[in-house]
Amino acid sequence: MRFKGMTIFVTGGAGFIGSAVCRHLLAETQANIVNLDKLTYAANLDNIPNGVSNSRYVFKRADICNAPLLRQLFSEFRPDAVMNLAAESHVDRSIDGPGEFMQTNVVGTFSLLQEALRYYRGLNDTQRAGFRFLHVSTDEVFGSLGESGYFSENSPYAPNSPYSASKASSDHLVRAWHETYGLPTLITNCSNNYGPYHFPEKLIPHTIIKGLSGEELPVYGDGQNIRDWLFVEDHAKALTLVLERGRVGQTYNIGGRNERTNLRVVETICDLLDELAPRTITPRRDLISFVVDRPGHDRRYAIDASKIERELGWTAERSFESGIERTVRWYIDQQHWWKAILAGGYASIRVGLSQ
Ligand code: NAD
Repeated sequence: MRFKGMTIFVTGGAGFIGSAVCRHLLAETQANIVNLDKLTYAANLDNIPNGVSNSRYVFKRADICNAPLLRQLFSEFRPDAVMNLAAESHVDRSIDGPGEFMQTNVVGTFSLLQEALRYYRGLNDTQRAGFRFLHVSTDEVFGSLGESGYFSENSPYAPNSPYSASKASSDHLVRAWHETYGLPTLITNCSNNYGPYHFPEKLIPHTIIKGLSGEELPVYGDGQNIRDWLFVEDHAKALTLVLERGRVGQTYNIGGRNERTNLRVVETICDLLDELAPRTITPRRDLISFVVDRPGHDRRYAIDASKIERELGWTAERSFESGIERTVRWYIDQQHWWKAILAGGYASIRVGLSQ
């Protein structure tokens, strides 16, 4: 059985992707999970329903910048692996307030690497041979593509937003801790995720929630920016495989081969909402409104995922059509989940205009 008897630290496990990783590891493996999360605005412990009263799951409130606390947790739980998903993740917020992004994404990754290394050095040879540090990153570190081509593992780094610059910095730290200190690290760079439990500030949940209540649906700029969408559960499976079988010191790109313009994504959601939650007034597409673009908005991201497909046998299982329908249905059925976030004070207003 996969990961039997092993303990995995999942940092940021109460966030969107981290919680999908926790749910997947609990459902499909025998691993013991320690979810380390600071519980920022983006966190929600309800995202892991199968963690409740599961003896293989523990939650610890922890900031990855807090080195003494990390040291104590490493010595208490003696993990076999670390999956680092703790991050500030919203590009628009990084434009207005980059400080938190530098703190968590750069300094936090540094603290986690240092404490992982200190712990790793105290392991015996057998334990060291099995230990892994998987750092989860984004394709945004590679900057923007033109109309053709794909990001590969050899693409040069060219981050354009404070968010992607902070993630690029953390990738470089992880690489250096492998090359200099021999920490057994792995890095993944993934395209845009979507699916259940996605915080309402991101394009897809924002559009679904506004569309359900018949509000205006903002699209940045001309709506022609392209993202390569991946269903979050496919990402969680890929990360688990990389942890299990990835080659130490390597980087793996993860993507769904599902390129769509933002406008097409919003139109698809409109059509699904009209079908699944009909309104009598106007079709949802009439609610679309083009608004001022994001400063430094990357035009196109697209991933060449052939390395992970070839080496680890991973492919995205869900097409965009099936994943987006499942997601829209989830937000219709689970209104209590996102209404609690709105009631908790999330304002749902435009940020990141750099003014
Ligand atoms: P998220 O914002 O939904 O969740 C981040 C989680 O990290 C939250 O639970 C938050 O409380 C926690 N956190 C923040 N600061 C912390 C700190 N200092 N210490 C401990 N926990 C902290 O983000 P997400 O979308 O789930 O992204 C997870 C990771 O995947 C990030 O590293 C992100 O860069 C990367 N990624 C995201 C996408 C995407 O489309 N969302 C794509 C590729 C890569």
